[in-house]
Amino acid sequence: MLTGRMMAFPLTITHLWQRAREFFPRQEVVSRLPDKSLHRQTYADFAARTARLANALKKLGVGPGDRVATLCWNHRQHLEAYYAVPMMGAVVHTLNIRLHPSELLYIAQSAEDSVLIVDRSLWKLYEAFGPEVRSLRHVIVVPDAGPAPEGTHDYEALLAAEHDEYAWPALDENTAAMLCYTSGTTGNPKGVLLSHRSTVLHAMVSCMTDTLGIRQGDTCMPVVPMFHAAAWGLPYSAVLAGAKLVMPGPHLDGLSLLDLMAAEKVTLAAGVPTIWLGILAALDNEPRRWDLRSVRAMVIGGAAAPASMIEGFSTRHSLQVVHAWGMTEMSPLGTVANIKHGLLDRSPEELLSLRASQGYAVPFVETRHVNDQGSPLPRDGETFGELEVRGPWVASSYYNGDGGDRFTDDGWFKTGDVVTLDPEGYMRITDRAKDVIKSGGEWISSVALENALMSHPAVLEAAVFAAQHPTWSERPVAAVAFKPGQSATPDELRAHIEGRFAKFWLPDAYVVVSQIPRTSTGKFLKSKLREEHGRILLGEAVT
Ligand code: AMP
Repeated sequence: MLTGRMMAFPLTITHLWQRAREFFPRQEVVSRLPDKSLHRQTYADFAARTARLANALKKLGVGPGDRVATLCWNHRQHLEAYYAVPMMGAVVHTLNIRLHPSELLYIAQSAEDSVLIVDRSLWKLYEAFGPEVRSLRHVIVVPDAGPAPEGTHDYEALLAAEHDEYAWPALDENTAAMLCYTSGTTGNPKGVLLSHRSTVLHAMVSCMTDTLGIRQGDTCMPVVPMFHAAAWGLPYSAVLAGAKLVMPGPHLDGLSLLDLMAAEKVTLAAGVPTIWLGILAALDNEPRRWDLRSVRAMVIGGAAAPASMIEGFSTRHSLQVVHAWGMTEMSPLGTVANIKHGLLDRSPEELLSLRASQGYAVPFVETRHVNDQGSPLPRDGETFGELEVRGPWVASSYYNGDGGDRFTDDGWFKTGDVVTLDPEGYMRITDRAKDVIKSGGEWISSVALENALMSHPAVLEAAVFAAQHPTWSERPVAAVAFKPGQSATPDELRAHIEGRFAKFWLPDAYVVVSQIPRTSTGKFLKSKLREEHGRILLGEAVT
């Protein structure tokens, strides 16, 4: 084989930072603080402060490969840590502020974090686990809601004492950059260790027109937290493109987000469906309150975006949803539900069904679905199987060595998602493997039922889960939360969805709840519904 004669130029995060400093020094990073005021800084400030942070961390003893944890909202200091830490050759480890302190303790111990950067507004959470983390040598406090407590370093004071330049090391592109733990609803959370190369490639593909199309003229607002799968890589792709960044901080309710989107003329915002349900409800309530003409894409992922929500945004508010699927283990972008050019002439119903699917794989992500024996299944749009993926930003193993059974001998990652793939390559998630409902040996897609229920005008949220059944082993039961002041009877709900599904798919019972329980990353927590209502069909009292 003849070797090509091109430069072995490493793909590192340092290059993204360098570009921002060189070409986009006046571009803005806007952060919303706990008191709702806005803080503005330029990429030139960001670049200088990143170097200052690196100088400060070095003085605190941070060396190559050390883990520097963050316990922060989305804001400029978090962005600075996203760059300074990996560019020094260390690893930024994002801790999920929605986890229980015992889980945070487990994760911080497992990662052996040596320094922790924490928001003053999250200090109470820190106190509930931080002092027990044996590896922790320094705590740096971002003074977002008051001064740094005694015995800690004040982030701003540390930076004020440093220089605007840092001698960034030349890094191998495979150097570890970031550590993210999966939300771990089953078993212990597992660490995913991203590299500079995987992060850069992921950012480049996120900027492609036919994926998320992040571009220089965009104003990107990651509502998805920076502790959830690196805010889907937006802090890297937006800086790579030279786009403006709007960081929403702790105010994540529909009204606050809409105010911010309108005020900052956001063009692309990204978050999980539960966030968007709140936004849609606020817009339906006061359709003329906000001018959102700047918004070109609302990226929804992390859980299935119901077709009714996608349609509601587009028909009632002229807002375009881009539905995407991914996982922490894949940095996270896997598929995007853009419509291929050759399919644009399909009927409005078919186009909506394509937009509500999880889409087809982005470049360099390969997908296949397999049966229980691991044999690939046909792409006929009907056969269910577990999805497997591979690609340059897909994990090859977990950081803490757990979960070896998720990686196949022939180099694929078992996602745990049960899907169909159609002949055009569009994927539809029917369930998480652990949430699958098996009634008399037949699979029922809870996701399809939920989407249908959520198209009922009175329904705010619906989750369908498996309840134990004396004859069929499992049967579907729906938990439903209604919009304020509205309701529907089980018969009305059933009438709304029957006709769209085989009869045996229809839920046997409906449980009314005030809100569907959620995981730490905003997904429906069906294990809790099963725990609470899973025996309802056995004739036992609901607990
Ligand atoms: P996480 O690593 O926390 O982001 O969780 C990844 C999991 O979220 C996937 O394996 C899916 O089960 C689910 N998920 C992510 N995006 C979607 C989507 N667009 N539709 C349905 N499920 C999704």
